[in-house]
Amino acid sequence: MKLFELRGGVHPEGRKDLSAGRHIRVLPLPKKLFVPLQQHIGAPATPLVNVGDKVLKGQLIALAQGAVSSSIHAPTSGVIAALGDFPAPHPSGLPVPTITIESDGEDKWIARDEAYDPFALTPEDIAARVGAAGIVGLGGATFPAALKLNLSRNSGVHTLIMNGGECEPYLTCDDRIMRERAGQIVEGIRLIAHAVAAKEILVGIEDNKPDAIAAMQAAAEGTPVKVVVMPSMYPMGSEKQIIQVLTGKEIPAGGRPADIGVLVHNVATAYAVQQAVCYGKPLISRIVTVSGGAIMTPCNVEALIGTPVQELIDFADGYEQPAARLVLGGPMMGQQFTHTGVPVVKGTSGVLALMQDEIGQAEPSPCIRCSTCVRACPIGLVPLEMAAHIRVSDLSGAVDLGLKDCIACGSCSYVCPAHIPLVHYFNYAKGDLAAQERTKLKQEATRKLAEARNERLARIERERAEAAARRKAAREAKERAKQEAAAKAAEEAA
Ligand code: SF4
Ligand code: SF4
Repeated sequence: MKLFELRGGVHPEGRKDLSAGRHIRVLPLPKKLFVPLQQHIGAPATPLVNVGDKVLKGQLIALAQGAVSSSIHAPTSGVIAALGDFPAPHPSGLPVPTITIESDGEDKWIARDEAYDPFALTPEDIAARVGAAGIVGLGGATFPAALKLNLSRNSGVHTLIMNGGECEPYLTCDDRIMRERAGQIVEGIRLIAHAVAAKEILVGIEDNKPDAIAAMQAAAEGTPVKVVVMPSMYPMGSEKQIIQVLTGKEIPAGGRPADIGVLVHNVATAYAVQQAVCYGKPLISRIVTVSGGAIMTPCNVEALIGTPVQELIDFADGYEQPAARLVLGGPMMGQQFTHTGVPVVKGTSGVLALMQDEIGQAEPSPCIRCSTCVRACPIGLVPLEMAAHIRVSDLSGAVDLGLKDCIACGSCSYVCPAHIPLVHYFNYAKGDLAAQERTKLKQEATRKLAEARNERLARIERERAEAAARRKAAREAKERAKQEAAAKAAEEAA
């Protein structure tokens, strides 16, 4: 199949060999699980349990709220030990509302609704099952998957692209799941395609995963699913890049893949969809890569959502060397953390413990205007100019240069010879813009409330005046009638 040219991108050292050769192992059952109410894009789920309640594995414990949200299920059986704030993998680093479950060690499932002929289900039924299972995009975006299915079906998507790129260094969780669970992934892909009536189904896998490619090709044989080998390059696994390389189409600025008839899902999400639709299993675990030069035995583990990250590090035999930096996700787009008690959440693809020489951090120096960052940007932006505007707090100038289209891939920072942390500027500015947007929405809501109140008060005043006028008119009419009757009586008496 013809592949299309991509602009920009970088080739960081992969270091995937650290963990790629090891089979997925299931992490032992933790004593306590810390399950945050918000592990997805959108509104947090609302708890349905109280402290002291007994729950079964897979039981719904928090319900999705609003149009964009996702439900949460108990990862094991046990007792609700606490409802309250707990440190979580959140950019703020602040504690977030969390349900704590004390495991009873039995890991006893709730009754599950299995589908014996999943392809006999309607697209709406599939989306409903995916929504009820609390599935979100497992490639890192954590957008509720059912909502994506419904939006795509309504916008007439024709091409389904499954993302098996996994271009972030160190991460091998998608590689391993494709090697070991290819049959279930292909079934999940066909279910997603059935749910959105996609005509073309492409699975993009980078050429540095030959075993995953072979496993997926074997599983896809005789199905409409086409496995496409893509060159290894960062950020090939980003939505915009994979669409461009496989279809030659670009998402318009500020647009969505559905605008050009495309839906993109991650291969691990397809596995979760198959488990939910066929076996009624909600999303309560995921595959996580534990790696980095400081980890004694890098590996891939299947961990329950809510498992403290420290237990994954212990399972990998702890540290070989002191870690200079801990990262959740990949080193390019992941999030640094310090508290190893934070739990694995639905979007946790990796736990990395990196040594100083893997970080390669050097002091930034002034920009030499070499434009290397411009050549590396896969979106075609001008990072040095955007950063210059942000440095002088001119956010609207940065927006005019395309800040909102920046995918925060970090390619520009990676290649900058002056070691300027460009992507940090962009993340900071985007956070600031989001805060301004929230304030604007709040002010708008307050203005609307004030307007509604003023209208209500004016209406009450108007109704009062009208009632008073009616009463006055009635009084006058009564008075007139009285006077007329008196006059008439006087006339008759005369
Ligand atoms: S790569 Fe760094 S030094 Fe070169 S132009 Fe961009 S910001 Fe300046
Ligand atoms: S972080 Fe943004 S500006 Fe930098 S290379 Fe990636 S998309 Fe371009």
